[in-house]
This record gives sequence, C-alpha cells and structure tokens, in this order.
Amino acid sequence: MVDMNVLTLNQTYTAKQLASLWGYKSHHALVKGVFHPKGSDILILFVTKERQPGSTQFKNELRGNMIKIEGADKHGTDQLLLANQGQDKDKIYLFYREKHTLPFTFLGRVHLVQSFIYTDKSSEFEFFIENLESIEDDMALLDYVIHYDENLSASLDVVCHSAKDLTYHLKCERDINNREQVTRLLGYSCAICGFNYAKAYGKDLAKDFIDIHYIGDGKQDGNPDISKDFVPVCANCHRMLHHKRSHNISVEDLKKRVAYYKKEPDYEQLTLSFE
Ligand SMILES: [Zn+2]
Ligand SMILES: [Zn+2]
Repeated sequence: MVDMNVLTLNQTYTAKQLASLWGYKSHHALVKGVFHPKGSDILILFVTKERQPGSTQFKNELRGNMIKIEGADKHGTDQLLLANQGQDKDKIYLFYREKHTLPFTFLGRVHLVQSFIYTDKSSEFEFFIENLESIEDDMALLDYVIHYDENLSASLDVVCHSAKDLTYHLKCERDINNREQVTRLLGYSCAICGFNYAKAYGKDLAKDFIDIHYIGDGKQDGNPDISKDFVPVCANCHRMLHHKRSHNISVEDLKKRVAYYKKEPDYEQLTLSFE
C-alpha cells in the first residue's frame, strides 16, 4: 500500500496528500513520528523541528547530512529503530519540516548510525541522510562533498546538482584574476553592509581583503562577465548568502535586512517579506 516510488526527492507533501497517495482514509496515523506500515519493511520518520505549542517538543536537529531525533516519550518506537543499528533491517525514509504549519519535505533514505537509549527521558537516534541535495547550507555541503570525495573517490561532478553548481560558483569566486578585476571596478567594501577590512582592522593587516560573490546565471560555458556577475562582500555577508539555499537570498534581500538591523538594532527581524 505504501509506495515510496510515487514520491520525488526534496518535494514537499502535506500529510493529507500522502494519505491520499497511499490510500489511507485518515492522515492522522501517518504523521506519528515513526510510521511503520503493517507488514512492510518500511519505517517512515516524520520529523517536525518546531511542533505545535502545547504538544511535546522533541529535540530534533538537522545538520548537514545528519539528523538527530528523539524517540517517542514512552519508548514505544525504540526497539523498532534499534533493530536497524548498524544494519538496514528496514528501509528508513525521512520527512522533515521546520514548523508544524508547513508541509513535509521528502528527504529520502536515511540510515541509523548511533542510538542513545535512556530510561528517564526520550532516547535519541542519529541518522545519516543519503540525499546530498538536502543539505541546505552550502558550506556544510562543501564540507560533506570533500569528505565524500576522499572516502568514496566519487567525482564532484556526479555527486549532485547542488554540489556541481556550488563548485562552479566557488571556482569563479576564488579565481584570483576575477577577484582582481572585480575589486578594481567595485572596490574593497562589502556591497551589502559596507564593511571595509582595511579600515576596520588596519591596512598593514587587511589591505585589499574582501570576498567576491558570484551572482551570474551559473551557465558554465565561457567566462563570467566581470562587470555584471560579481559583487564584493565581507565574509559575514557572504556566509549568509550561502546559508540557506531554500531561501534563495539575494544581495538585495540581505542588504535590506542589514539596513533594517542598523536602523532598529533592538528589534528582532523574523521574516520580513522582501520581494
Ligand atoms: Zn558585509
Ligand atoms: Zn558566493
């Protein structure tokens, strides 16, 4: 009944959509943390980082390609999960969402790598996520890809689209010639927050220090256009630009956020809707 082949990686699904895809009358049984369809060798994890106020908050943490989750508070699912420690007894799949109001993103197969069994509180389970496209943070992806490359000697190009795009992006940004030409045109101050390394830290230490960020279309044929495809940015702003791929933060977006912060440093900006 539960067919995982009808799903697409990194696609979002509501519980109701899943129920109707799999032929369940109610979607409530589906999203109970660990779902084990009767008679199958499938375990499905439904992980919500921020649950509904008033319900038990579990400590669920997604980092790079690892996710650590808390088991059910009455330990009802501990044994089911534990049977997969160090072996794939079942096929385990992961659905993840940041908030209870959002649909789940299907992140594909995961493998149990570590368990922490407690009796006085919820047990914890750590899983490895197979799907590289799920890594939201570019630098975490890069870390992972380098590691992956060393261990599995797989070429960067075949790893995943995101890794491929990121490799091209970073290649453009780290090219000394590109950097020289961009800074000659646009200077050494961050185009987002205005930070200038030499002014802040002294010329002797930080003369000509700045990152450049690639904003071209990513077409990997020919050379990037120096006058259009780059902006100088400080390391902080650059990190934020690469922090969440799903948010697709543009230079303009980030500029507005920084401007808001400078004007209202004591107000928390949650999600100002830019665009
Ligand atoms: Zn900056
Ligand atoms: Zn960049």
